[in-house]
Amino acid sequence: SIRWCKVVEIYNEFEEKCATSNDKLKHIAEAMTEEMHAGLASEGGSKLKMLVSYVDNLPTGEEEGVYYALDLGGTNFRVLRVQLAGKSGIESQEFMEVSIPPQLMVGTSKALFDYIATQLAKFVAKESDKFHLPPGRKRELGFTFSFPVMQLSIASGTLMRWTKGFSIDDMIGQDVVAELTQAMKRKGIDMHVSALVNDTVGTLAGGRYNNNDVAIAVILGTGTNAAYVERAKDIPKWHGAPPKSGEMVINTEWGNFRSSHLPLTEYDNALDSESLNPGQQMYEKMISGMYMGEILRRVLCRMADEAALFGDTVPPKLKTPFVLRTPEMSAMHHDTSEDLRVVGKKLNDILEISNTSLETRKLIVNLCNIIATRGARLAAAGILGILRKTGRHVAKNGETAKTVIAMDGGLYEHYTEYRKCMENTIHELVGDELSQHVKLVHSNDGSGIGAALLAASHSQYS
Ligand code: ADP
Ligand code: MG
Repeated sequence: SIRWCKVVEIYNEFEEKCATSNDKLKHIAEAMTEEMHAGLASEGGSKLKMLVSYVDNLPTGEEEGVYYALDLGGTNFRVLRVQLAGKSGIESQEFMEVSIPPQLMVGTSKALFDYIATQLAKFVAKESDKFHLPPGRKRELGFTFSFPVMQLSIASGTLMRWTKGFSIDDMIGQDVVAELTQAMKRKGIDMHVSALVNDTVGTLAGGRYNNNDVAIAVILGTGTNAAYVERAKDIPKWHGAPPKSGEMVINTEWGNFRSSHLPLTEYDNALDSESLNPGQQMYEKMISGMYMGEILRRVLCRMADEAALFGDTVPPKLKTPFVLRTPEMSAMHHDTSEDLRVVGKKLNDILEISNTSLETRKLIVNLCNIIATRGARLAAAGILGILRKTGRHVAKNGETAKTVIAMDGGLYEHYTEYRKCMENTIHELVGDELSQHVKLVHSNDGSGIGAALLAASHSQYS
């Protein structure tokens, strides 16, 4: 039978180690700000890469024409086309979403890009007459690629490393636009890649198109990352021509943030050392969708092993890494039924654990809450870090800048408790007064549309 004493001991220890007081979060935000400075000062100066995006102008709303975008994230990839009609906005849009076959995430770059190009070709073939390509023009595409890229220009850049479960060695150091272009050629697609953007940069562009006060974009999906508008003169490592706008969008790659203030547990450390990228993306591994369910699984595994939570032996399914996904964790966390029957059903369906007591189910909901709360509060601290870096965390000469943060990603979109906790925490951290000037908006599929908008503003014909 269950050794509740031991369960409680493991539980209490976990809860304690995951604690994120507001003071702790403020230290984390300060550390984030410091790392941002260091990453801007010199290439490789920080764990935060602070990548220059070559986007020095965000969409104005004047963009016109038909543009494509291809968004390669972590779980799915999307292709879309928009017909932009200047001031009248987006006249038409169509998209298609395909999940990425897992074996392609760890295969060869040719296999991955051939698959992508094949899907893109299918989509292009179905272009309706709502889209008008002027005669003699090539179709143009914005490529959203959500992995760290050393950008060489607006439409080229080399892959620095993989994250989020991807591992294709022959891609590292390669120009991702060249790879895509070659694959398109192999599949007979006549299209020009006009912009290569990170999903955060795309979300920022898509957000700005809808709202002039958007200055920061944050993704909480399979992984996590943020981008923001920086003053060009505050980027010491930038030796290119000063942009006319005086501004440059920076892709922080904050997923790789690490600080001694981060509340790491034994479960995080084990998850990390068994991951495809040990020692990297520690912040991401604590707060994003790919990992939170896995943290829960690890805690349950220990409880099963040391306190017989699910009987005398550890259920075999529970031993499988990544079987418990964050959407399932979220469904259990949101279970409002009196007997927690969603929790019961998930345990049964995913882990083949039946006949759990209400007490056990309650325990699991509480564990979900600990993990999601820690993640959400750490995400809020990261946002405070960016607000501090841009001086948006205080009123200046009695005036407070209005900051709108464009948010996107499946985790933010669907995990309501996480989102609410994050929003409340930002409020707590910046205080009542400034809270009125900081707003989060959901930029639905901003990264795809943003890439299409950036393809438009960087068109080879303009
Ligand atoms: P990507 O980050 O791969 O570009 P998305 O932004 O669509 O893709 O995010 C997908 C991720 O969001 C999933 O991997 C999952 O971790 C998380 N997610 C999706 N649905 C839910 C949900 N209902 N609850 C919690 N997390 C979710
Ligand atoms: Mg994405």
